[in-house]
Amino acid sequence: MSGGRIERLQERLDDGRFLCVFLLVGADGAVLVDTGLATTPQRTIAPALARLGIGWDGLRAVVVTHADVDHAGGLGAVRRLAPRATVVAGAADRLLIESSELLLERRYREFRDEHGIDQPEAFSAWVRANADDGAVDLALTGDGTLRIDREWTVGLLAAPGHTAGHLVVHDPASATVIAADAVLGGFSPGAGGEPAFAPTYRFLPGYRETIARLQEIAPQRLLCSHLPPLEGAAVAAYLRESAAFADRCEAALLRVLDGGEPATLAELIAATAPALASWPAAARDTLVQPLAGHLEALSAQGRVRRLPGCPARYART
Ligand SMILES: [Zn+2]
Repeated sequence: MSGGRIERLQERLDDGRFLCVFLLVGADGAVLVDTGLATTPQRTIAPALARLGIGWDGLRAVVVTHADVDHAGGLGAVRRLAPRATVVAGAADRLLIESSELLLERRYREFRDEHGIDQPEAFSAWVRANADDGAVDLALTGDGTLRIDREWTVGLLAAPGHTAGHLVVHDPASATVIAADAVLGGFSPGAGGEPAFAPTYRFLPGYRETIARLQEIAPQRLLCSHLPPLEGAAVAAYLRESAAFADRCEAALLRVLDGGEPATLAELIAATAPALASWPAAARDTLVQPLAGHLEALSAQGRVRRLPGCPARYART
């Protein structure tokens, strides 16, 4: 197992945060991991392919790790520039990767109708401005493998939690996992690494299983899309921090429900934020995703009951 090179390509977002996409550079071509926003292919990927002497013709496959506009927004451009590349994604994310309107409806504005929690109009406009939809060729329902060249094969591992169909890339040769947004620590970082908003995982128990799986793999290097590379002991610490936040979130939710009347999701955000939020008050509602995930998981275990009505309310059983 010789293995080739993993190139980490970083660019700035409008809000100062950065995003990364990755190239796995093999002996006879490259594989792109994530496509960034609509402008990322021309702005960041094209110069890297040129510098490496590969060009768009040498791009053999594209892995879209998950359905978010900063990972899938450049897929349309990549398909036009590299029409022969095979595009791979997780089956559960496929439709949302292929349609930014569905992504808005089912993911970003998921809580609008039943919970009265919505994104600002400017956010939807930003998503539309930064999405260039493209098609997925191969949708994985579990793990897969991807051959980069004759001597280098990587694993594509199902890593649900942040989204239902999130994939991570495992390269045993370099003990590296390209995690993208599969694990999210105790907060999502802003431009200077400070807490900017909640760790936006959405699906439990998948998220906990993903953290445990990465702990078992124990990679030497963990590459996340919005963090500097993590190495050695920092990898284990970040995975522990991710698991600890989920535990704190569940505990805070149960404390609030134990001590009070049935509550709406908006009321639960307000009541749990003091115990959980290291990020600014303006970003408080980003807790909606993890809280919704925990409420669903606790309901499935019979520990919480969702009461009918609009907005929905939750109570302890
Ligand atoms: Zn994401």
